Amino acid sequence: MKKDYRRRKLGKRMLRPETLMMGYGYAPGLSEGALKPPIFHTSTFVFESAQAGKDLFDLTSGRRKPKKGEEVGLVYSRFNNPNFEILEDRLAVWDDAERGAVFSSGMAAIATTALTFLRPGDVVLHSRPLYGGTETLIRNTLAAFGIGSLGFTDGIDADGVRRAAEAAAERGPVGLVLVETPANPTNGLVDLGLMAEIADMLGKRQGRRPPVAVDNTMLGPMYQQPLRHGADLALYSLTKYAGGHSDLIAGGATGSAELVGRTILMRGALGTQLDPNSCWMLLRSLETLQIRADRATANAQRLAEWLRAHPRIRTVNYLGFLEPGDRRRAVFDRQCTAPGSTFSFDIDGGEKEAFAFLDRLVLLKLAVSLGGTETLISHPASTTHSGVPKALREEIGVTEATIRISVGIENADDLIADLEQALA
Ligand SMILES: *Cc1c(COP(=O)(O)O)cnc(C)c1O
Repeated sequence: MKKDYRRRKLGKRMLRPETLMMGYGYAPGLSEGALKPPIFHTSTFVFESAQAGKDLFDLTSGRRKPKKGEEVGLVYSRFNNPNFEILEDRLAVWDDAERGAVFSSGMAAIATTALTFLRPGDVVLHSRPLYGGTETLIRNTLAAFGIGSLGFTDGIDADGVRRAAEAAAERGPVGLVLVETPANPTNGLVDLGLMAEIADMLGKRQGRRPPVAVDNTMLGPMYQQPLRHGADLALYSLTKYAGGHSDLIAGGATGSAELVGRTILMRGALGTQLDPNSCWMLLRSLETLQIRADRATANAQRLAEWLRAHPRIRTVNYLGFLEPGDRRRAVFDRQCTAPGSTFSFDIDGGEKEAFAFLDRLVLLKLAVSLGGTETLISHPASTTHSGVPKALREEIGVTEATIRISVGIENADDLIADLEQALA
């Protein structure tokens, strides 16, 4: 009976994620016919018999692999819960992945993945810049456990990345390749096919191939599907576009049943699972994900064009403006289907001019985070990127004049009116 609710095809037609979000993975018959899944506010689940309890524990602890077609029954809400099982199935649909997993935050997804694949003495090879929290996790937390790291800034230059990989492998086995593309707020791109080649090369050299994990928070599965381009795992801060209403914190991972299954075992050990209430809110959010993202993307295009034409704006760092001759353009065309709605621009002047502009805005809210229904604007050099050394900040193109904007789904003309009065 449950199987029917995991139907992804209608005849020969493969149904699109935005269609499947309304019901996929949920069997109303198991919940009194309720159209929408109830929130299962329960910490534990009753076993039918002592033997059934034993069998379930063997499965959830990984001592026994499920038999073909066997569902892992419900045990305890740190391991599984109907709300997060439905959410995981739907998350996997977006990336066309075998399996999805949800976590208590984007950082919990990244940290749990790191602890699954890295051991003392290992090295993590990563792109730069990374999200500030990820950077700190690698530099402070993982380093304290004897895990090294090496970053590269140009994720398209094959020779440069190869040299970085070799230098990393000199220091110890590379246990994980972790990249972020597009990077935030610079819109730097990483060639995922190249990352898969590098992981193959390291695998031959070390006898153990490091998985390639991609933080896909910025474009999300709506506009970039990393698993199709050579990544083994896609990681998400579901707080951003997937949640989309700036009202919850959550994280996710998608990939093969084998790799995601390993992170799920680690999640059970650490307790980094998501609560049923946030899962339910995310199920609701995913129903409108594509429509919200498309509107925000259209708004962002309008704002980027308007800003580019304004005399007080020096540069606009928007993926939709990549010239045909730009090295990033080929990677963008291969990996991404839209430029998304978060970008940065440099105002004429420095911190003083940037702050004056930000303080005059009325509609646009001054806050970090991104991907919500409302437009958020921030000054990376003094906030999200204040921990990044100035030299590296300049290298990656974050200056005192750089402003990041996450465009929401408001009326674009209203947003432009606010920008106009603040720049006047
Ligand atoms: C926000 C963010 C994270 C961290 O996610 P949380 O849900 O805040 O823990 C990781 N990566 C990127 C790119 C982000 O924007």
